Amino acid sequence: MTAQVSQEVIKKLDEGQAKLQGAADCKSLLKKHFTKAVLQANKWKKTKLGGTLLDCVQSGVENLDSGVGVYAPDAEAYTLFADLFNPIIDEYHNGFKPSDKQPDMDLGEKKIGDLVDLDPEGKFIVSTRIRCGRSLAGYPFNPCLTELNYKNMEARMKTILEGISDADLKGTYYPLTGMSKEVQTQLIADHFLFKEGDRFLQAANANRFWPTGRGIFHNEEKSFLVWVNEEDHLRIISMQPGGNVGQVLERLIKGLKLIAEKSPFARHPRLGWLTFCPTNLGTTVRASVHIKLPKISANKEEFEKVCEEMKLQIRGIHGEHSESDAGVYDISNKQRLGLTEYEAVRQMYDGVKKLIELEKAKA
Ligand code: ADP
Ligand code: MG
Repeated sequence: MTAQVSQEVIKKLDEGQAKLQGAADCKSLLKKHFTKAVLQANKWKKTKLGGTLLDCVQSGVENLDSGVGVYAPDAEAYTLFADLFNPIIDEYHNGFKPSDKQPDMDLGEKKIGDLVDLDPEGKFIVSTRIRCGRSLAGYPFNPCLTELNYKNMEARMKTILEGISDADLKGTYYPLTGMSKEVQTQLIADHFLFKEGDRFLQAANANRFWPTGRGIFHNEEKSFLVWVNEEDHLRIISMQPGGNVGQVLERLIKGLKLIAEKSPFARHPRLGWLTFCPTNLGTTVRASVHIKLPKISANKEEFEKVCEEMKLQIRGIHGEHSESDAGVYDISNKQRLGLTEYEAVRQMYDGVKKLIELEKAKA
């Protein structure tokens, strides 16, 4: 076989694999599935766009506290490096096998009425948010994008987003380039904008040319938002105070449809909507609440166990890799692949409903 991959990359892969296997405290899915056999069978491979196994694993090698630790530099990586991605996908998404297929999209338009407010008295839930990710067809993911790609994608999305005329959703696109530090910091603190300098994305080579091509669109109320070129090409977000999941979903569906009319998205026949991180494949839906559950969260271990059983993920108040603050947690569906969009939302909805019951029952 001709050595397409440089010796330098091979050396980093060999050393990275050894580093992971020697890291006693590392609990990532990458460590578990990046075996010697996977290394040997894949280290010489390259995608057509030049993506290597190193591109897939480097964030998890650098950040030993990763939960997962892998990213796909382009769509082909999911197939070419299936030896690594498949077992990780299987384990993360509740047993999604290589023979399984993502079901057709079902956002649940007709079932929104079933999603009655989870917390009508406003005792537990601070806010509700549902987001999905999309990749623009024809473009690779962050590590393979050029500066010109970023600029073109941003210009295209600005036109599409500012062309939205719906009274509730219409808004303005704010590029990160030129945004004042005060405005940016406030938007991040208020949970509207992605943070800067994420070390997991940095190590995955996802922050090149920052802040070029990155920005946020939002309506006046900041209840409908679109992130451009953060982790994924697009993150489409609906959020509002309180626990009315139905309203949040309804708004997301309306906005998603308006954007999809104007922009073709990349979809994989088996993996559904394509994303940079394998945890987001399939529906790409993360439905979350910011919730106060002081009694049942007092015992952290027990709380984590209960959430795990209901396929719920716990994050801190400032998102992934942050800590809880004043007892407020971000609780969301963990699984995104191998179920429909509506089922992903339901995973969060049914689980949070149960958590509130448990909280109320605790004397
Ligand atoms: P994502 O899955 O969209 O990448 P992150 O964990 O990176 O989410 O968090 C992004 C931002 O969204 C953070 O500021 C986080 O606090 C905010 N966020 C997530 N869920 C909610 C929610 N239910 N209400 C308000 N803000 C939220
Ligand atoms: Mg994120």
